[in-house]
Amino acid sequence: MVVRRREPGARARGRGAGDPWFTPPDAITEKVLRWVERVGRWGTARPFGWPVTRAQARSWLDDFVGSRLYDFGRYEDAIRSDARFLFHSLLSAPLNLGLLRPLELARAAEDAYRAGRVPLASAEGFIRQVIGWREFIRGVYWQLMPGLREANRLDARRPLPDFFWEPEKTPMRCLREALTSVRDTGYTHHIERLMVICNYATLAGLDPRAVSHWFWAGFVDAYEWVELPNVVGMGMFGTDAFTTKPYVASAAYIKRQSGLSAKGRGPAAAKHEGPCARCRFDPDRRSGDGACPFNAMYWDFLARNRGWMSENPRVRALFGTLDRWGDAEVAAIRRAAEAHRDTLVSGGYAFAIDEDAG
Ligand SMILES: Cc1cc2nc3c(=O)[nH]c(=O)nc-3n(C[C@H](O)[C@H](O)[C@H](O)COP(=O)(O)OP(=O)(O)OC[C@H]3O[C@@H](n4cnc5c(N)ncnc54)[C@H](O)[C@@H]3O)c2cc1C
Repeated sequence: MVVRRREPGARARGRGAGDPWFTPPDAITEKVLRWVERVGRWGTARPFGWPVTRAQARSWLDDFVGSRLYDFGRYEDAIRSDARFLFHSLLSAPLNLGLLRPLELARAAEDAYRAGRVPLASAEGFIRQVIGWREFIRGVYWQLMPGLREANRLDARRPLPDFFWEPEKTPMRCLREALTSVRDTGYTHHIERLMVICNYATLAGLDPRAVSHWFWAGFVDAYEWVELPNVVGMGMFGTDAFTTKPYVASAAYIKRQSGLSAKGRGPAAAKHEGPCARCRFDPDRRSGDGACPFNAMYWDFLARNRGWMSENPRVRALFGTLDRWGDAEVAAIRRAAEAHRDTLVSGGYAFAIDEDAG
């Protein structure tokens, strides 16, 4: 049986979009939940609403195609504080568990497009994620293992800050919301994983293996074959084997995705609030009081890695900006980045992850 639970403010254009299905636990799931509550050391087991049977997974797929796929393409990169799931499918866990087949998802999206129920950009965008990215990532895993576990191209060694486990401890709203979502639901969507959590982790110089272990502990869809290439490869540039540059960005990117962007203009975007809106940090300031730490850390990252990054035609132009600012401003930015990193506290949590446990 499935029940509908509405996400506040997530409806767009009267289509009921953004209302994922939540499945009440059956007797077996209930038993497992009790066990998890007994032995679990972090995270919240309840409320639990993920699909655990083939029939439930099919309902989730039908619900996604019928209500949220329409707006998937338009809002897939958006970040909102009041709509945690936006128009995403939430199907990675049932897919990874084998309750759904990738081709089944692609066909369902194609059929909806051919029937005129969803726009091409949404059907194509979704199909590309499933049979493009997902399959590609699987190939990457087999290609790069076993070395991928230890890959650390940037030689980043900083331990995981405690606020990854206790999100209330970070004052950065975008980060706090994404980390809280992981702790409480086992989920955040792609852009929060990549451009909030991993962006921060890369800029702060966190150890990719520690970050990978945290992802493993936190996400409902985490399996090594898909988690590791995404976190260590795509998210943290631990290897350049399949991305040509690090996925790093300043606060300007997060502000754009969390506000009214070209992609997100429209009724749904106007109704929702992004994390920059009421953050205590200013995304438009690079240093000084109240400046968003993403800015100083981003430009500091570029300055630190200038040697090899300035050879890269995809990012070379950014160094012209640094040069225009002059030494004094760059020095201030770098001091601000260092000051932020000095605030990070680690060591309050020690979880042993057995990477060979399955
Ligand atoms: C740092 C980081 C860590 C990630 N860790 C995981 C993980 O542990 N397990 C996991 O399944 N996915 C992972 N992903 C990929 C992707 O973010 C999730 O599959 C997606 O957010 C799951 O939510 P959804 O089902 O609502 O996805 P949607 O946005 O609805 O996308 C549809 C489907 O496309 C597939 N997909 C899209 N992008 C990717 C990708 N880069 N790699 C693999 N599949 C993709 C997924 O199966 C997903 O269900 C990670 C991405 C990043 C950047």
